[in-house]
Amino acid sequence: MKTKMGWGMRSRALFAGIGVLLAAFAADVLAAAEVRGVRLWRAPDNTRLVFDLSGPVQHSVFTLTAPNRIVIDINGAQLATKLEQLSLSNTPITSVRSAQRTPTDLRVVIDVSASVTPKSFSLAPNQQYGNRLVVDLFDQEAAAAEASAPQVAIAPSTPQSPVTPTQPAPSKLPPVPGGKRDIVVAIDAGHGGEDPGALGPKGQYEKNVTLAISKELQRQINQEKGFRGELVRTGDYFIPLRKRTEIARKKGADLFVSIHADAAPSRSAFGASVFALSDRGATSETARWLADNENRSDLIGGVGSVSLDDKDRMLAGVLLDLSMTATLSSSLNVGQKVLSNVSRVTPLHKRRVEQAGFMVLKSPDIPSILVETGFISNHNESQKLANRSHQQALARSIQTGIKQFFQQNPPPGTYIAWLRDQGKIAIGPREHVVTSGESLALIAQRYEVSMATLRSANSLKSDHLKVGQMLTIPAAALAAQP
Ligand SMILES: [Zn+2]
Repeated sequence: MKTKMGWGMRSRALFAGIGVLLAAFAADVLAAAEVRGVRLWRAPDNTRLVFDLSGPVQHSVFTLTAPNRIVIDINGAQLATKLEQLSLSNTPITSVRSAQRTPTDLRVVIDVSASVTPKSFSLAPNQQYGNRLVVDLFDQEAAAAEASAPQVAIAPSTPQSPVTPTQPAPSKLPPVPGGKRDIVVAIDAGHGGEDPGALGPKGQYEKNVTLAISKELQRQINQEKGFRGELVRTGDYFIPLRKRTEIARKKGADLFVSIHADAAPSRSAFGASVFALSDRGATSETARWLADNENRSDLIGGVGSVSLDDKDRMLAGVLLDLSMTATLSSSLNVGQKVLSNVSRVTPLHKRRVEQAGFMVLKSPDIPSILVETGFISNHNESQKLANRSHQQALARSIQTGIKQFFQQNPPPGTYIAWLRDQGKIAIGPREHVVTSGESLALIAQRYEVSMATLRSANSLKSDHLKVGQMLTIPAAALAAQP
């Protein structure tokens, strides 16, 4: 009895002790975030791992060699998902393992077959996702190739150094003497990877529609002698917005075309639209709303500290102001041609080219347009957008507009310029779309024609020009003044 009592007391004390321990343990566990899922995306030069978390975490990443592996320590986290289900095909990753080092410290080890350079950052919750930890593994072969490639991007500069307007960044391929290079059209399929873009009523993803139309557009452009289409995004992965224009520049783009599908709070909204950059705010509230939405892409996919160089960003801003006006006129011109061709295959949302502050259109020296091919949020249009023959018709109309623009304005040294110089393409007079701040004198000077010629060719009663007005520019030879 005595012994029994003693055992009972001891066991109660023991249970109480365990209880305290369990409580402490539970509190710790509650404080830890859960890794609820891991997603993986393969891009041409990197592999992205996204850890979906129930809350914020601290983390560190380091590499180990022989054998090559990446270690990700996530403090204040527990694994609440399986890592084995990740599809690793086409990636340098051979396996992903994990160990719970303490109840709240998780270690993830990634075995890789080739050495990679890891970059990591955390992302705060947004409309689509909660807290995330992003680990990008950059292929070292791709990085080495990039480093040794000739730099056609904006030259580095210190933030304070003055920028001379006479030295714009070379972007287009240099004219080959006597050569007939192709006109390069960079085709940018909007969104991708963990950024699905807008959603259709039946769960269609904008990123898939844009890629399908972009690939079709590339196929059609490549069929046209003298033109070459280059895809900015070739598969289902995320590219930050500024990286998209960078890719276009590296490919020597003469034109940047971003393909999207609209969404609107109202399901009844429909029709295609074409946008060019606005330097002074959006032309309409809708345009502003849309620009906010499209630019949000970087908040969804994150830019981290990976590709953004503050110096380049600053310099790009300065160059932007210097050469944007000339580029914008070309953008509006090609935009109007694309819009009028698109109107033959689908209804338009707006009859004229709209202007908004889209990040992807901010190349200072490459004419850039953004085509919203229709509203994926509209039941009828979402079905059309997923339809193969409608995609082909849309691509054909965009391609036709682009071709018309370049037949009138071929970059020097291209096959199309050569054709025109040989008199082998019948072209109408050139056209110029007036942008804000442009005067008749400025336009006359730019096209090397007299103001009188411009006045008579356009039946102008005064020299006052309206923004968006289309001017006919007579051929310089015919307009030459004695
Ligand atoms: Zn979009």
